[in-house]
Amino acid sequence: MISNIYILTLFPDVINKYLDESILGRAQKNNKVSFHVHNIRDKSTNKHFKVDDIPFGGSTGMVMMLEPIILLLEEIGIQDKHVVLTSPKGARLNNDKIKTLKEIKELVIIAGHYEGIDSRINNYVDEEISIGDYVLTGGELPALVITDSLVRCIPSVLGNTDSLLEESFEDDLLDWDVYTRPRVFDAKEVPDVLFSGNHKKIEHWKQKSAIINTLIDRPSVFAKHRFTEEQKIILKDYLKED
Ligand code: SAM
Repeated sequence: MISNIYILTLFPDVINKYLDESILGRAQKNNKVSFHVHNIRDKSTNKHFKVDDIPFGGSTGMVMMLEPIILLLEEIGIQDKHVVLTSPKGARLNNDKIKTLKEIKELVIIAGHYEGIDSRINNYVDEEISIGDYVLTGGELPALVITDSLVRCIPSVLGNTDSLLEESFEDDLLDWDVYTRPRVFDAKEVPDVLFSGNHKKIEHWKQKSAIINTLIDRPSVFAKHRFTEEQKIILKDYLKED
């Protein structure tokens, strides 16, 4: 299980602000996980603390130099650690990848910036991960996305561990629709069944809501789901409805 996450960044304050708050902040305080945020600029060998330079071959923007990052990796010691580079070119992050990563004890995440890092960084990383097919200004948000999705998987970090099993993508289904007070808002009512006190009926409604949400919103996830006999009946009944 994940226990130490090292983040290499040019913007440690951005990272620390998020890690100090809410569930992640509590997880660290309660010793469920330790965060180690390192400023790449601290390892600049340049008297002006430069960490980037112009790209060979010409192009726009600047490229992050290898040396400060490698010096940091050497200081941290990566022999027993899994090193992830955040990159739009990487494998797309998903629930399966999070399940694999959470079993790693020591994880290092490198956040790039500018036009990215000198490509020879690939000799020092285990894998590149992307959080989607779009380009961000830096790897800070991807590093936080990876960290957040891993830390909430650590047992007892979330108040109710059952909620992990009921969440979207578990078992290839999306979550059911959720509601809270008030019962009526802007003439929109919470489904009556949720007040029935009948646990069997409520469970049936939740399963149906999850199945319909997945079918309509994410057919590719729906296609992977293995239906129980009860769920098959729920789906057939739904398809028969007008
Ligand atoms: N020139 C690069 C390209 O076109 O692929 C984009 C570099 S981007 C402006 C700077 C850094 O942000 C990257 O090195 C990476 O660390 C991070 N980054 C940007 N978009 C990302 C994404 N979708 N997933 C993961 N990291 C991303």
